[in-house]
Amino acid sequence: MHHMTLAEIARGLADKKFSSEELTKTLLARIAQLDPQLNSFISLTEELALSQAKAADARRANGESGALLGAPIAHKDLFCTQGIRTSCGSKMLDNFKAPYDATVVAKLAAAGTVTLGKTNMDEFAMGSANESSYYGAVKNPWNLEHVPGGSSGGSAAAVAARLLPAATATDTGGSIRQPAAFTNLTGLKPTYGRVSRWGMIAYASSLDQGGPLARTAEDCAILLQGMAGFDPNDSTSIDEPVPDYSAGLNGSLQGLRIGVPKEYFGAGLDPRIAELIQDSIKALEKLGAVIKEISLPNMQHAIPAYYVIAPAEASSNLSRFDGVRFGHRCENPQNLIDLYKRSRGEGFGAEVQRRIMVGAYALSAGYYDAYYLKAQKIRRLVKNDFMAAFNEVDIILGPTTPNPAWKLGAKNSDPVAAYLEDVYTITANLAGLPGLSMPAGFVDGLPVGVQLLAPYFQEGRLLNVAHQYQLNTDWHTRTPTGF
Ligand code: GLN
Repeated sequence: MHHMTLAEIARGLADKKFSSEELTKTLLARIAQLDPQLNSFISLTEELALSQAKAADARRANGESGALLGAPIAHKDLFCTQGIRTSCGSKMLDNFKAPYDATVVAKLAAAGTVTLGKTNMDEFAMGSANESSYYGAVKNPWNLEHVPGGSSGGSAAAVAARLLPAATATDTGGSIRQPAAFTNLTGLKPTYGRVSRWGMIAYASSLDQGGPLARTAEDCAILLQGMAGFDPNDSTSIDEPVPDYSAGLNGSLQGLRIGVPKEYFGAGLDPRIAELIQDSIKALEKLGAVIKEISLPNMQHAIPAYYVIAPAEASSNLSRFDGVRFGHRCENPQNLIDLYKRSRGEGFGAEVQRRIMVGAYALSAGYYDAYYLKAQKIRRLVKNDFMAAFNEVDIILGPTTPNPAWKLGAKNSDPVAAYLEDVYTITANLAGLPGLSMPAGFVDGLPVGVQLLAPYFQEGRLLNVAHQYQLNTDWHTRTPTGF
């Protein structure tokens, strides 16, 4: 039962082959048995899951249908869930039970999903390895000595290990696509504004975007359908109609113009990954796509710009965690300043403190123009590069990451080495564009992802291309041994 995709589950439930309650019990037992090896969950919500499953079964018995009705999922632990701990992977929020549901959580619950739990993540979504979590590192099911990627490492490891078919995640600089690549999943970062950020605890508000992590493009389409749409509670939510993503999966790729940026294949890219990317290009050419070399000349400036903008926004967003209103509060504060200092010093981990310091520095009066303003100008140049490229091509293709998943602890003493691994993913966040990572092969037994980028609101095009590719390849069907 645990091997089924969301699409297969929907068919099985519709054909009354099993109930949502049976499936939920099977998956909860599997999580109890296998998750101790992975640490992919921060909280399990068994009672809620069983009551949602029973309610979904009752709705189906009453004649209701829907691809998500009775589908088990989990939420990254930065989506607020009413009455349930929403920790953001931090000691700061270890004691925080959200007073309301995030829009994404509420929309998916209304569609009939069953919440099995809240998944592990890098603290406040800062990281690429899921090692900065207060709840401990997550292991990659493909090799337990390696990281699963981050910051949505818990969602990725759980779905890859077949503990559940799909999960929500968020992507500020690659945190959906990079863990998807590291664990052989399909993950989609939507256009900025496509999915509501209301109730999604902020890291860097102008970059954050929620999206689906699943094993197939078909399943990403199903989950995105339940997440996307205008939300008056989020002032950056965009009022664009949401297309039927599943209906769009079968379009022909004949004549599809794929741009391959020459800057993607410079030094730093593992040559074995470069080869797998070439294989994926050939597979798409066979389906009728036309390949064109393009250039994204400002790509080299994207990492420094991102690592100014994201910490700057984080330093502002995280100022609300002051030990006064909610979250961790130190023992016996002597005065207000002591309360702030010790609550924040004890509640935030090292990486979060590093980013707050970098961000506060970049925003300070004397340095604002030199760092923050400069970074914003680079951001515009990065966006302009994409706009010029999309005049010539329909999608852009390249590697998701320069290297496969590294060993646990390998980059702990060198944060910049980890930042450099984000080179292919962060440009989409700076520009607000949608991006998808899908399985493209293996290097030393570790999964490799190919990334597709599309113009604003063309999530459907990404899913269509990925689905056609997956009908003609079988990388996405490979299962990690032991799971
Ligand atoms: N690795 C990037 C960072 O640490 C991206 C994280 C994310 O997308 N949440 O900021």
